[in-house]
Amino acid sequence: MSKRLLVLFALALIPFLSGAQKTILHCGRLIDVNTGQIQNEMSVTVEKNKITGVVKGYVSAAPSDRVIDLRNRTVMPGLMDMHVHLEQEYGRNRQLERFVQNPADVAYQSVGYAETTLMAGFTTVRDLGGGGAGVNISLRNAINNKLIAGPRVYTAGKSVATTGGHADPTNGYRKDLMGDPGPEDGVVNGPEDCMKAVRQRYKDGSDLIKITASGGVLSVAKSADNPQFTEKELVAIVETAKDYGFKVAAHAHGAEAMKRAIRAGVNSIEHGTYIDDEAIALFKQYGTYLVPTIIAGKSTADSAKIAGYYPQMVTAKALVVGLSIQNTFAKAYKSGVKIAFGTDAGVFPHGKNWMEFVYMTEVGMPAMEAIQSATVAGADLLGVSDILGSIETGKLADIIAVEGNPLTDITSMGKVKFVMKDGVVYKQD
Ligand SMILES: [Zn+2]
Repeated sequence: MSKRLLVLFALALIPFLSGAQKTILHCGRLIDVNTGQIQNEMSVTVEKNKITGVVKGYVSAAPSDRVIDLRNRTVMPGLMDMHVHLEQEYGRNRQLERFVQNPADVAYQSVGYAETTLMAGFTTVRDLGGGGAGVNISLRNAINNKLIAGPRVYTAGKSVATTGGHADPTNGYRKDLMGDPGPEDGVVNGPEDCMKAVRQRYKDGSDLIKITASGGVLSVAKSADNPQFTEKELVAIVETAKDYGFKVAAHAHGAEAMKRAIRAGVNSIEHGTYIDDEAIALFKQYGTYLVPTIIAGKSTADSAKIAGYYPQMVTAKALVVGLSIQNTFAKAYKSGVKIAFGTDAGVFPHGKNWMEFVYMTEVGMPAMEAIQSATVAGADLLGVSDILGSIETGKLADIIAVEGNPLTDITSMGKVKFVMKDGVVYKQD
């Protein structure tokens, strides 16, 4: 770790030591996510944190320029994962950890998860909820202030649930420890609470709102799919969020929950497991994104097969829901629902996010479209298409390179050899 940090530090210093230097990337293959084409033998010029040129051929460099040789790599925009949880990594001791970890413990571990995510080529993530102490917000700030290495983080802070719902922080506790968490803790009942919870997130410094519109797999509660917000509550969330410039991400496995959430105007549905034809029609009518998280379903189903890994209530749900998500994704994709790449990393080990590409292409999405879902689509969902999502002059220099050609072998997405974020090189093999 310390050696890696030294390298980082040295790489970060180069531009300052050598004056107004240009970095020129010689790219053997460059993925143009706007046209869905691969371009061969291209040069990308980076100055400070911006892309200042994308031209055909390997342009020659002035003596003061830095040239990075990616002639035997496939170069593409930094990847965007629309669903991660940077504060944690779920293991069999999760139930206990909630009682023994201090926020500082969570903070230190999240630093490692953030770095792992960046090194896997994910230069932007949506963090969809942490424990509520605000570690994910501080983590974002520390990354932005270049104190630690991590992706650009857009965080929901603490997600918003209803009493007993998925993400009620005291679900499954002993009765005398349950208490009665409220809007500040992300637990709401009725439109007034919804307004207050959104405003509290504004005060906390969140970037967006995450709600749990239906039951979930990993909460210690019976149903994974029952609707947990009323229409009025959902409208209150979305309307208040709009006032503060927040987008809204809604976790939903059940069809009724996702229909209500889409009609209320949320920007994305997470998981979408029990999607039906009516829900598909609503997705398309409202232009709502589906964030599939196939890998989370598969990994929780795998863990559920290990005796004692999850509480009994969770095991039953994980075995059913987990294996359905890939079929859900296939159905939604083929029906023309907009897809934004997202994994739920933290439910499985951070850094394995790329496996989602394998699962998406396994059931019929072409590799190019899977890459587009993790670049242009992510930028569109975040509302940052003007600065991120493609390698174009004027955009921020978030660029990665992989070994091999992912269009012919999708496992290339797990062989990230070069990572640049905001014009700074973090990884160069
Ligand atoms: Zn999640």
